[in-house]
Amino acid sequence: MAQVRDKDADKAVRRVVIVGGGTAGWMSAAGMVSVLSKLNLSITLIESDAIGTVGVGEATLPHIRFFNQKLGIDENELMAATQATYKLGIEFKNWGNIGDSYIHPFGDFGVPINRVPFHHYITRAIKTGHDIDLDEYSLPVMAARGGKFTLPSQDMNSVMSTYGYAYQFDATLYARFLRKFSEGKGVTRQEGKVTSVTQNPENGFITSVTLESGQQIDGDIFIDCTGFRGLLIEQTLRTGFDDWSEYLPCNRAVTVGSEPIGSAGPYTRASAKAAGWQWRIPLQHRIGNGYVYASDYMSDDEAAASLLEDVDGPLRGEPRHLKFVSGMRKASWNKNCIAVGLSGGFLEPLESTGIYLIQEAITNFIELFPTRDCPDAERDEYNRIMDLSFERVRDFLILHYVATQRTDSPFWKYCKDMPIPDSLRHKMDLFKNSGRVVSYELGAFKFPSWLAVYYGQGIIPAHVDPVSAHMPLSALPGELSRLKSIIGVAVSKMPNHTDYIAAHCAADPAIVM
Ligand SMILES: Cc1cc2nc3c(=O)[nH]c(=O)nc-3n(C[C@H](O)[C@H](O)[C@H](O)COP(=O)(O)OP(=O)(O)OC[C@H]3O[C@@H](n4cnc5c(N)ncnc54)[C@H](O)[C@@H]3O)c2cc1C
Repeated sequence: MAQVRDKDADKAVRRVVIVGGGTAGWMSAAGMVSVLSKLNLSITLIESDAIGTVGVGEATLPHIRFFNQKLGIDENELMAATQATYKLGIEFKNWGNIGDSYIHPFGDFGVPINRVPFHHYITRAIKTGHDIDLDEYSLPVMAARGGKFTLPSQDMNSVMSTYGYAYQFDATLYARFLRKFSEGKGVTRQEGKVTSVTQNPENGFITSVTLESGQQIDGDIFIDCTGFRGLLIEQTLRTGFDDWSEYLPCNRAVTVGSEPIGSAGPYTRASAKAAGWQWRIPLQHRIGNGYVYASDYMSDDEAAASLLEDVDGPLRGEPRHLKFVSGMRKASWNKNCIAVGLSGGFLEPLESTGIYLIQEAITNFIELFPTRDCPDAERDEYNRIMDLSFERVRDFLILHYVATQRTDSPFWKYCKDMPIPDSLRHKMDLFKNSGRVVSYELGAFKFPSWLAVYYGQGIIPAHVDPVSAHMPLSALPGELSRLKSIIGVAVSKMPNHTDYIAAHCAADPAIVM
């Protein structure tokens, strides 16, 4: 019998070329070499020591744990190698009004009562004159404020299962860790600067890149991880960029490290300031600090001076200035090129979403891994998912700014009244009316995250879910104080965050960056 040709096998991708070796490049390499191991791909990563990486990125979201788990990475080993601390959430200071503080936790507020979300009861309590502190109904918030940490319980009936966690780490060390991991699994690293790119004249697909040395590297699929410059996706393919500065006006950052003072808290801090906000991220060996600001409202020198005023320890090095624009590529996947990391887009770092969006990009690409001809159907689906992922993060970030009541500087006056996307307007209108949160499957920030910001910045719904009104008002204080006490007891038994790190994942003092 004549053998039928296996057309799918003929069209299989054999060579993947990743250009760029920052966090995006090495996460892409590590993800593909592990998850697609059966495809026997030849994966080459090109990076240039002379160009270097962006060198920022310290706070993460809980999703990163699942990425690492999928790769089989030991968490304690990773934490020790990256000077990591645990992160239970972000404290937002001065966002609603000067003097305010709330924590956006990686976890729940209360538990549903009669299947009605807990916050409807909180709203009822607030509206009937009770003095409510939402913090007291969230275990991760109380643990963060108390400097406590332990791993969550797997017992879903325990209050200790009501939270997640992420890391505060050195992303440069993370990339280094993943490089060792990827090279150990067969990824080839090529040092050198790409100086030219060759395209197929018929369909525009990228066929090879050439290094300064003259060496040419051919590929079937090219992953652009070249950072803000977007060497392949933009400089070569001219994909275009959707600029969202109108909604997210911060476009500069000035950063500096400082010596750790006291014990490292298990949370990141974002303090709103005159023209933006300042981060404080405690790692094991240092504290990362940065002022993210809008250049229309503050000069670089003013921002650097303001940053240093609010750094609470001796400096490590000189302040460093960075420029960026919030927005994303018009297509994250164009022809046979996928933009991962800063080359694909960037949303200012308020909610630590840079590495999360890298993870989304690479895991979705792996799920839709194509044949060499990159069919439109796969590409369109990928771009649809990435558009949604970016837009949902964007809306959540804008909420922090537009939900301010501050009018003490031109920057905050602008934010308070700025235009917002219809998608966010709809979410806010629904919450303001009935306390309901628009739910969706895709997207980093789910129900409790939205609640934290709404309540934290003083948006209290006009009405509550009708079912929550069934409980006699007289029963409410008892229910609330029972829950508060369960959380209080659980937190009191948790170990101190720094003790927990010392016992499980203390960094080698020799690894200092
Ligand atoms: C101010 C600021 C704060 C941030 N904070 C956070 C945070 O807290 N949490 C978070 O998750 N994310 C954060 N991010 C985002 C995070 O830094 C990035 O998502 C992450 O570092 C990925 O960067 P990258 O790998 O895409 O680019 P880069 O780190 O810039 O890497 C680019 C790579 O491409 C290589 N390259 C470029 N051109 C060439 C060429 N011609 N030839 C060969 N190689 C080339 C470079 O050598 C380098 O290896 C922050 C970003 C900024 C700007």
